[in-house]
Amino acid sequence: MLARPFALLAALLLFLPPLIFWGYYAFAHACFSTDTMQAILQTNPAEALQYVRDAVPPARVPLLLFLLAAFALLLVWYSRIAALPAPTLKRGGASLSLLCGALLLALSSYNIYGIVAIGTARIFSAQQAFVASAPQRLTRLQGLPQDGPPGLYVLVIGESANRLHMSAYGYARDTTPWLRQIQRTPDCLLFQHAYANFVATLPALSYALTAQNQYEETDAEDATTLIEAAKAAGFHTVYLSNQGKLGLYSTPLVAIASECDEAVWLHPQQFLSKGREEKSLHIEDSDLVSALQGIETAPGSRTLLVLHLMGSHNTYENRYPEDFHPFGSETLIDRYDNSIAYTDAILQQIYDDVRQRPDFACLVYFSDHGEAVDEGYMHNGDAYRPSMTYIPLVLLASDTYRARSAAKWQTLAAHRDAYFTNDLIYDLMLSLMDIDTGDTRPENDIASPAYDATPARFRTEHGAELIVPPDAGD
Ligand SMILES: [Zn+2]
Repeated sequence: MLARPFALLAALLLFLPPLIFWGYYAFAHACFSTDTMQAILQTNPAEALQYVRDAVPPARVPLLLFLLAAFALLLVWYSRIAALPAPTLKRGGASLSLLCGALLLALSSYNIYGIVAIGTARIFSAQQAFVASAPQRLTRLQGLPQDGPPGLYVLVIGESANRLHMSAYGYARDTTPWLRQIQRTPDCLLFQHAYANFVATLPALSYALTAQNQYEETDAEDATTLIEAAKAAGFHTVYLSNQGKLGLYSTPLVAIASECDEAVWLHPQQFLSKGREEKSLHIEDSDLVSALQGIETAPGSRTLLVLHLMGSHNTYENRYPEDFHPFGSETLIDRYDNSIAYTDAILQQIYDDVRQRPDFACLVYFSDHGEAVDEGYMHNGDAYRPSMTYIPLVLLASDTYRARSAAKWQTLAAHRDAYFTNDLIYDLMLSLMDIDTGDTRPENDIASPAYDATPARFRTEHGAELIVPPDAGD
């Protein structure tokens, strides 16, 4: 006879994968994949907790309890039969039928164990190769001219901002009063057809901040990062992040940010805030605005300042102060719109800070991906929806910069309605900063007259999906 603990363990190994698969399917309406596994490995406890809280609303707690209870009963029943003293017909029959059932379930949920192993191995080797190849990438950049005009270039990375929820893009609620006003001034260009290259933060940003894109074949380890290019061209580089740093594995994004001369994570573990003792899931981007005031940018120098917002990351009500709720707090949409409105106020504060600084040149704001909030989803490639790709792209520039780069500005203005995916942020930033690394092509540079704006060529999900614009989609 099988010892009882042994039987329990066997049953656990047998029934756990289907439970995970069908549980995930029930709550996320998506199949558990290698991408899911990567996201799990790269998250941190606070982010995971927020995800579960948002994915399991109170109304669905009974379903979760039922699934867990059924799982526990199955385990107990199986281990009891398996532990019967002698081979009996009952035991044999029950065991066999359970085994067949479990195998069928496991097959239908494909191989969770395989997915776990593949996901882990893939992250590990990609990460190692990327970090290990930094010296080769830097060697290739040696000899870049370092004597351009002084300038402060600011790249603001948003989070889960869907442009269809921004009044500057025509949303009925006035969620972005500042952007709506400033886009009418000559300082601002609002791009109408920007899309995410992937609907998860890390894959999206690992393309946005490196030479990798969906339209050219470049291995991750060969892809120059925006930081490497800027440093090689004599820029002082600063990364200020309001997002978490630690996952089970350090991510390519952390590796890229760490290349900066100054890299600051205000909430390295998300639970804990820098310099404060209390643990909280509530993180507002006002922290980033305060920290920005402490960053010095010297006159006459060339600086790249990257600011990574918490933006509209779920849980939305944790992104703005308690007394800030211009659209109420009743529905998920109300709370999402509050977070968009709060980000608009934060962007105004960031712009008001940096435009006063000596040699301010440009500010670029884009979001890593959108959010399918109207369809009841967040963002998740397993449950892909085109609305997860609808992002804002905003460019603000000083008078001096616009006068100095008049032709480039005119080209950019002429491309306001052109399609763009945010893997081409690297090309845009290098073009704005007048850095020529030799690894960009004019057809991917929206600031170039040779930009190929043919809508049909644009992709998302790292090439796997065609772009579906809002009017054609949903
Ligand atoms: Zn994101």
